[in-house]
Amino acid sequence: MVSPQPPHLIELQYNVAGLLQEPTGSVRTTDVKVPISQLSQIDESVDVMAPFAGTVRLLNASDSILARIEGDTVLRLTCARCLEPFAHALHIDLEEEFRPRIDIFTGAVLPNVGEDASLIINEYHVLDLSEVLRQAMLLTQPLPPLCRDDCAGLCPTCGVNKNLETCDCHTVEIDSRWAALSALSQNDSNNLSGVK
Ligand SMILES: [Zn+2]
Ligand SMILES: [Zn+2]
Repeated sequence: MVSPQPPHLIELQYNVAGLLQEPTGSVRTTDVKVPISQLSQIDESVDVMAPFAGTVRLLNASDSILARIEGDTVLRLTCARCLEPFAHALHIDLEEEFRPRIDIFTGAVLPNVGEDASLIINEYHVLDLSEVLRQAMLLTQPLPPLCRDDCAGLCPTCGVNKNLETCDCHTVEIDSRWAALSALSQNDSNNLSGVK
């Protein structure tokens, strides 16, 4: 399966040429802010209500860079029970390992960059976190999305939003269940008396 190329957001591009030349264990930490206009381009299935704000930490791990992105945004989701849109505060905390395509010291093309093209530091020594953030936004969404844990949902009979209104359907439903139950227990006693 070929996944569509995500947009390469300018805010999530990091030139790691300097970091790659530093000793193993060297770290760069920067604040990151991606405006809504950029963030909403990252995936058509996400409806973004707030900028992404957080920090990016890049760690030189000898032959790779460990990149951790942590921060917060707000998504507009649709409740699976009452079908109303609601704001969901999304906390993202993800770490991925990026491998350079080019040896920073010799300029040689390196083998073993890995299968995942989104985790390759390109020939200009640019590490791109766009795909990592896109995946984090998709994978960290709650399933099922609920406007609140105790969302009462829609009445299956009349369709009113039971968080906002009450209807008479519920009582009728319970009554019919009791009726079915009492019919059953009457059958049981009939059967029992039949056995006797
Ligand atoms: Zn709901
Ligand atoms: Zn109802």
